[in-house]
Amino acid sequence: MALSFSASAKAEVCREFPQKNCCALAQCFGVLLFCNSFQNDTIKIITESREFAYILPKLFQKAFNLDFDSYPSLEAPGKLVFQIWEGAKIGKIMAAFGFDSRDNLSLHVNLPVVEEDCCKASFLRGAFLAGGSVTDPGKGYHMEITTTHHSVARETDALLRETMGFQPKTAGRGGSMVLYVKQSEQISDLLTYLGAPIAAMGIMEARLEKELNNKVNRRCNCDDANISKVVEAAQEQLSAIRTLGERGMLEALPAKLRQAADARAENPSASLAELAAMMEPPITKPAMNNRMKKLILLAKEAQL
Ligand SMILES: [Zn+2]
Repeated sequence: MALSFSASAKAEVCREFPQKNCCALAQCFGVLLFCNSFQNDTIKIITESREFAYILPKLFQKAFNLDFDSYPSLEAPGKLVFQIWEGAKIGKIMAAFGFDSRDNLSLHVNLPVVEEDCCKASFLRGAFLAGGSVTDPGKGYHMEITTTHHSVARETDALLRETMGFQPKTAGRGGSMVLYVKQSEQISDLLTYLGAPIAAMGIMEARLEKELNNKVNRRCNCDDANISKVVEAAQEQLSAIRTLGERGMLEALPAKLRQAADARAENPSASLAELAAMMEPPITKPAMNNRMKKLILLAKEAQL
């Protein structure tokens, strides 16, 4: 079965396993504050993502040097449940974040843990993997993370706004707080920030398609055939760039081609002339056309 859009985005985020201990700790912090249960007597993380389930034990090993008390089999269908109930382990985890497991816990985002930029991204990756989802852009634009801790929602909201420039909204759902984003551009930026550029491009492609459909509808008297030619060309270019991205080939491109690919990915509905003007230094429209043709050719070769 094909993965859902959300599941593919999570699989992509999982590829960025934290290299530094500070980031492993911050990612676990995000996981724990946005998971199903993080309390004095029990930790419970439930996920459907196989990729997340695969890295979770390694993440806890790296951050705390300890194992879960119960693991699922990765071959099992449906939801996978990870649990810790041993008091000493929970005490160790709480202490790593500056909490005392004997206190009546009021969890919050302990700022020193997310002080460095590298750790902020790791924290949000953890939050998204444990408590987040993103809707298939063909159905609508919606990305969210959910936590049962109200102060955590407030502090994460502040973190997203003040240090990253995102504008999430907050809503209550059952006893939980949901932080969500509805603008396609913000969702795409957030996915890129989390290390899921392919999913981000999927959002931009869907947006392009909608924009162009709207343009066609608005300009129904004029030359439809001409517009759909432009649409098709842009889609072919984006799809080629995505193919190159999926095969990890974007980084290896010559600088000029890379610049052209980035400009198209970031401006799905721009005309070739507009893209040409964005190049450093600016180039002519035919030269831009050549770069796009080259990208499409490379993508075709990569698929052989
Ligand atoms: Zn870090």
